[in-house]
Order: sequence, then structure tokens, then C-alpha cells
Amino acid sequence: MAEVGPGAATDLPHAVIVGGGFGGLTAARTLAGRPVRVTLLDRRNHHLFQPLLYQVATAVLNPSDIAVPLRSILRKAANITVLLADVEGVDLARRRLVLDAGEMDYDALILAVGATDTYFGHDDWEALAPGLKSLEDALEIRRRVLLAYEAAEREPAGAEQQALLTSVVIGGGPTGVELAGALGEISRRTIARDFRRIDPTRASIILLEGGPRILGAFPESLSRRAEDALRRIGVEVRTNALVTRVTPDAVWLGDESIRARTVLWTAGVAAAPLTRTLDAPRDRAGRVLVESDLSIPGHPEVFAIGDMCAFLHQTGRPLPGVAQVALQQGRVAADNVLRRLSDRPTRPFRYRDKGNMATIGRAAAVAVMGRWQFSGLVAWLVWLLVHITFLIGFRNRVLVLLQWAWSYVTWHRGARLITGRWKDR
Ligand SMILES: Cc1cc2nc3c(=O)[nH]c(=O)nc-3n(C[C@H](O)[C@H](O)[C@H](O)COP(=O)(O)OP(=O)(O)OC[C@H]3O[C@@H](n4cnc5c(N)ncnc54)[C@H](O)[C@@H]3O)c2cc1C
Repeated sequence: MAEVGPGAATDLPHAVIVGGGFGGLTAARTLAGRPVRVTLLDRRNHHLFQPLLYQVATAVLNPSDIAVPLRSILRKAANITVLLADVEGVDLARRRLVLDAGEMDYDALILAVGATDTYFGHDDWEALAPGLKSLEDALEIRRRVLLAYEAAEREPAGAEQQALLTSVVIGGGPTGVELAGALGEISRRTIARDFRRIDPTRASIILLEGGPRILGAFPESLSRRAEDALRRIGVEVRTNALVTRVTPDAVWLGDESIRARTVLWTAGVAAAPLTRTLDAPRDRAGRVLVESDLSIPGHPEVFAIGDMCAFLHQTGRPLPGVAQVALQQGRVAADNVLRRLSDRPTRPFRYRDKGNMATIGRAAAVAVMGRWQFSGLVAWLVWLLVHITFLIGFRNRVLVLLQWAWSYVTWHRGARLITGRWKDR
């Protein structure tokens, strides 16, 4: 196979980062200007700000608002080469990566390939109930939701029309809550007056959660407040609701069926498929069990970070799959690469929990930060502030967020989309 070499040929050691998400990009930025040649590989040419994906799915933001080319972010880092490549395998013993075209050697490796949706053995549900992980997913969801309303407008009143007006979101974690909330707002407010034959405010948005409460990772009082906030915007929340079957026109809970033309999946995540090619211990969700310094057991030159790893050294349980964990691990893994390459001892990782939050439709949210708990508008403003801070450094990001926040407050901009294209205001 063709050898894909690193960028500028120098005597410096070669560190490869796979994945330009929150973890990989942070690692790359940490290694910028340091005495190491870095190659950042990603199968996409952009860094994606996943926390705002549901805004694209519900047509509040455009794809370009939340995706930035990796090349442009790292333009000034002369020691970093960005390459578009799908990594198909890692040969830990030979320190070699198998790419979609060619192979690549490394002296140190940071794996940061993230997570993917899992359907718990029901892979046939994927086509019927797409998840929300990429821009393509977001656009597909946006297309399905809005075309369902268009089809309902043509359909005579009756069961089929109601099925077209019914959206089911499976999974009551933060993504499911945010998605259901946004769908509720769109049908009740944004497009409420745009149709003549149907009344979008009669649309049914149902959030199904298999466990006893939504937002299981939040304190119980915030779960309750989130549920109340969702109900206020017309989302029906059903807990202890285990989905047993998904068909093209219905979701089944045992013998009960809910007729729905739009079904969305936010119920389960597993480590990205690349982890299966690693000769390393993994947990049930496929995440690589890492050492306390984030290296892979038996391979001190290889680090795994973010959603694809399970770090059990702090609480005995895996850390949550959130951006903060990936960001903080990216920094420590990069530092440990430098330490390892200069024969210094690596340092252990310790997660500093800065809080957890989820938005619920327009201008409401729940947030927990240390001993502090917020809900409603205050939590939403905290959420906004945190995301603005996060986004600083990205071209136009602050402007986009403020623009979007303004549209939320004033309800000006809506889901006006015609067969997949934006119609400008
Ligand atoms: C809809 C949604 C909303 C979210 N909201 C929040 C939130 O509000 N707050 C929060 O903290 N977290 C949120 N998260 C979680 C957060 O986005 C993740 O925890 C974070 O992205 C993990 O970072 P990562 O670097 O591990 O992986 P990712 O950011 O997923 O990056 C993985 C990268 O690896 C690349 N890749 C994968 N496989 C390969 C391969 N084989 N070859 C080459 N490249 C590959 C991918 O293209 C991608 O660029 C949300 C996630 C989703 C999906």
C-alpha cells in the first residue's frame, strides 16, 4: 500500500491525531508550535460544533454556521498537516495506521474518533429512525420533519394526516430533550400560521424514554422541571416506555403502536467503529478502557480520548460523553505525547466538571453547575453564555449565536424550508 508521509520532512518525531472533533482539535492546538511534526487525520474536512446540531435539524441554523474547516483553524500552525482520510485500522504492534488510501507510521498517536449511534442490535431501525450525529443527519431530519408537514397539508383530515403530523423522539437524554423541545416550538409557534389546511399546533410531538425519568444524568428536580417545560410547549413525555419495534409508519411499545411518520433516534451511543480494530480492552459500549494517563494498556505511545474512551480512574464509572471531557483530555493527551517523546513521565488525567446543561425549546433550559442548579430563562442565558465562550476563536461564531439567540427571543426566523432549501426571510 502507498505510504502517506507526514508534512514537512524533519528529524522531529511524528505524532498523528485521528479525529478533528473537540478532543482531537484541542490536542492539535496544544501541539501547535511544539517540537513535533503533527498530522491530523479526519474523514471530514471540518470541525463540527455538535451541541448546535439540533438547531440545524430544526432549520434554525444553517450547516455552515456550525462547521469550520479544520485546515483554516490550524492554518497558522506550521508543524501541523491536516489530511482528509478515513482511518480503517490501527496496527498497534507495528505503529501503523491503515487509511482508505495508503498507510501511515507514527511515533505517538492520539485517537479521538468519537461515538456513533447504536440501535442495540436493531440495525434495521436506523433507516426508519435516524440519529443526530453529523451534518448529513441534521439535514435528513430537517427534510423529513418539514416534508411531513407539507404532505399533511395535501392529505385529507384523518388518521394518515395525523400520522404525518406526529413526530416521535426516542431517548430522553439531553439531545432527545433538545430535539423534542425544538420540534414543539416549531410546530406551535414558528410555522403555526404558515399552513391553511392543517393546524401545526395540533401536531403531536412525543418523547419516549425507557427509564423512569428524562435527563437521567441530572438531579431529579431538574428532570421534573424539564418535563414540565416540555409539556408547556406541547411535547408529550412518556417514561418507562421501552420501544420494541419501529416500522415505516409506527413505533411499537409492546402491543401498543404509535402511528408516526417522523421517528428520530437519540437513545444510544457506542464508540466509533474504528475502536473495533484495536487490540485493546473495551467496555460494553465499545469504548477503549484507558490508563490513568489516557494511554492504551500496553501501548504508552497511544492515547485514546473523548467519547471513544472509558476513563474509570476518577469515579469508577465512565466520564460523561460531553465536550468538556474531550477538550480537557485533548490537552492532557497532547501534553503526555510531548512528555513521552522527551522521555519524561506522563501525568494522570483528572476531569474538572464544569456543569451539565440542556435547552428546552425557546428560552428555557436546565443547568447544574457544582452546587448550583438553574432552570427556565436563567439556565438558558447560562447555556448561551457558555456556548459563546466555547465558540470564541471560530470565524463569525459569536455573531451567529447572537443572531440565533435574537431570533429565538423575537421569534423572527423560522423553519421556512422548501424541499431542502432555505427561503430567505
Ligand atoms: C446532537 C448532539 C448534541 C450535543 N450537545 C452537547 C452539549 O450541549 N454539551 C456538551 O458538552 N456535549 C454535547 N454533545 C456531546 C459532544 O459533542 C461530544 O461529547 C464531543 O463531540 C466528543 O468529542 P470527541 O472529540 O470525542 O468526538 P467528536 O467531536 O465526535 O469528533 C470525532 C471526529 O472523528 C472523526 N472520525 C471518526 N471516525 C473516523 C475515522 N475512522 N477516520 C477519520 N476520522 C474519523 C469524525 O469525523 C469527527 O470529526 C452533543 C452531541 C451531539 C451528537
